[in-house]
Amino acid sequence: MKRQYVILAAALVTSVIGNAQNSKQDSLVKEAAKTEIWKPEPPIVTPGNTSADAPSDAIILFDGKNLDKWRSVRDTNAPAGWTVADGAFTVKKGTGNIETKQKFIDYQIHLEWKIPSNITGTNQARGNSGLFLASTGPGDLGYEIQILDCYNNKTYVNGQTGSVYKQAIPLANACKKPGEWQTYDVIWTAPRFNADGSVKSKGRVTVIHNGVLLQNNTEVNGTTVWIGQPYYKAHGPSPIKLQDHGDPSEPISFRNIWVRPL
Ligand code: MG
Repeated sequence: MKRQYVILAAALVTSVIGNAQNSKQDSLVKEAAKTEIWKPEPPIVTPGNTSADAPSDAIILFDGKNLDKWRSVRDTNAPAGWTVADGAFTVKKGTGNIETKQKFIDYQIHLEWKIPSNITGTNQARGNSGLFLASTGPGDLGYEIQILDCYNNKTYVNGQTGSVYKQAIPLANACKKPGEWQTYDVIWTAPRFNADGSVKSKGRVTVIHNGVLLQNNTEVNGTTVWIGQPYYKAHGPSPIKLQDHGDPSEPISFRNIWVRPL
């Protein structure tokens, strides 16, 4: 066979093989496309400079200036009576809990808190506050994620920082020293109720403390109680509440609070 015929035959074989490969690739792409979803597209959210900074769609609950977004729980017509100074606010002992004026269902919240460096007391009486995921009144009902100085402070583990108080022990103790700012990033799925008030689905919560996972989509068994067992009482959208625990030790401070309804 002349050399040019050999080259022509080789080119022909290569082309046939190439076409077969392309056709196989096309059919794989078509098959893969059957499980691709293109619509609806998730909304565009511009993140903050750091994960602590509010993204573009967040509702700012405290911007360092005032407590206009909050009110007293005892008297919901009264302003929140805690003290604002230096870009933060501090529990004013004896004024009681405060809650947001706005109500929420499911959400992601970021907040920062600081135990004072001169904290005193032991066990539960050492920088005790709390993030109530829903303030479900009347009285002081709600679901509390405990805030407490547990840096070098022993207490019952289902009452330490990041516990669902008296319900779920946190996966870790990630407390910083008193005097240092600490972060909570919390994702809350509110409980749902049937028309007769019975529970359709329980609440679920994920808690990240200083970047460490403490609660991993934990099921919440009802409103927080100090004595006895938790129970559910039907409610709808609810404020978010912060606790004035009324300890004799120095009160704790908060700053940079934002929330994204889900
Ligand atoms: Mg507490």
